[in-house]
Amino acid sequence: MSGVVIAGGSVAGVYTARALRRHGYAGRVRVVEAEAELPYDKPPLSKTSLAQDPRVPLLTESEVADLGIELLLGRRVTELSTAASTVTLDNAAELQYDELVIATGAAARPAPWSCPGVHVLRSLADARGLRADLAAARHLLVIGAGFIGAEVASLARSTGIAVTLVDEAAVPMARVVGAALGERLAELHRMNSVDTRFGVRVNSLARHDNRLHAELSDGSVVEADTAVVGIGARLDLDWLEFAGLPVGNGVECDEYGRAKGFDKIHAVGDIAGWYQPRLGRAARIEHWTNAVEQADHVAQNIARPDNRVPYDPVPYVWSDQYDWRIQLIGTRDLDHSPHIIEQADPFRLAAVWRDDLDRVTGGMTVNWPQASVRLRQGISRGVPASEVGAQLIGASK
Ligand SMILES: Cc1cc2nc3c(=O)[nH]c(=O)nc-3n(C[C@H](O)[C@H](O)[C@H](O)COP(=O)(O)OP(=O)(O)OC[C@H]3O[C@@H](n4cnc5c(N)ncnc54)[C@H](O)[C@@H]3O)c2cc1C
Repeated sequence: MSGVVIAGGSVAGVYTARALRRHGYAGRVRVVEAEAELPYDKPPLSKTSLAQDPRVPLLTESEVADLGIELLLGRRVTELSTAASTVTLDNAAELQYDELVIATGAAARPAPWSCPGVHVLRSLADARGLRADLAAARHLLVIGAGFIGAEVASLARSTGIAVTLVDEAAVPMARVVGAALGERLAELHRMNSVDTRFGVRVNSLARHDNRLHAELSDGSVVEADTAVVGIGARLDLDWLEFAGLPVGNGVECDEYGRAKGFDKIHAVGDIAGWYQPRLGRAARIEHWTNAVEQADHVAQNIARPDNRVPYDPVPYVWSDQYDWRIQLIGTRDLDHSPHIIEQADPFRLAAVWRDDLDRVTGGMTVNWPQASVRLRQGISRGVPASEVGAQLIGASK
């Protein structure tokens, strides 16, 4: 029996391996991971205080032994043969599989400028390199005000480093939470003394006289000691497409996580575009909880093929920025304004989106984890938005 081969040993891959055993899978499990490091978690890379090392292990040597799995570190899967049910590694080794799980995630979109002191943030090595530079920095330039850019800005401000945050969009998070809440998130940066330059592009970035000089599209120049570029992620789909797998926005999978047309090949985490019954379409989600929940479903479906369970998630992501714990739940129709419930002291906020049938579809909360749980449950159970709203108003009194 060749067992399960998992390509990629980070959040989705490790949780798949662990869940296979939990669901009673007794066969061979091999995890192939390109990095030589024992697997570590990703969210702490942009959240852990600068005084500490951001490495939070996902798996220990003793757990590997207890689970009875094989971890092939420092090895990249480079080829897949669906006809032979094999993957080939970068050392030319061939692994036969009964079931293949693709958990190769995403990589940071590279910075368009390559000069010393310009970082991206995806791996532990990236995080350590950035932290080494920040230790000596007085001014950080952050390009891209999405989740990662915002968290790095927040981290730098926590140690008094001056931050300039640049984004092409006038209200960067409007694309995620709409204009009004996007403006609140922009204001959060300003309240924390971040110099925001929104609605402008970086035309050039170069290092001279031991300083970075960024020319912005409004003609201004920003000088900084170091820079972080957080402009999204990209997928490596070439080897999968070459093998004939259906790829578009990720590996196209059914609601059970099987690559369309390939019963023995599954995809989980950031690389996977699963069909979502709730949405009536495929979606690819780059969030931690999604990776863990998909891993659990695929493991269960491999361990108990006669009792497959579909995955129909209510998407969830959190982000820690300054003294705000921001949580986003479900899907938000940005053409409609949410109903906002907020309390001043201590500050907390919940925004509730609804559909035409008054069902709650999405939400955003700040410093209000119970509201986030209620919203996720409400969406999952189809509870009327008015009912969820009333519960939250009651709880906020
Ligand atoms: C700095 C940072 C902060 C984040 N914060 C949050 C947060 O607060 N909340 C949240 O919900 N999400 C957060 N995320 C996103 C979350 O971490 C990802 O959704 C999650 O890591 C996805 O897991 P994954 O295993 O699918 O992909 P990845 O984490 O990208 O892991 C894929 C792994 O596969 C390996 N690999 C790639 N190609 C190959 C190959 N060909 N062969 C073998 N191995 C390969 C890679 O080395 C990597 O280890 C954050 C991400 C980052 C980078």
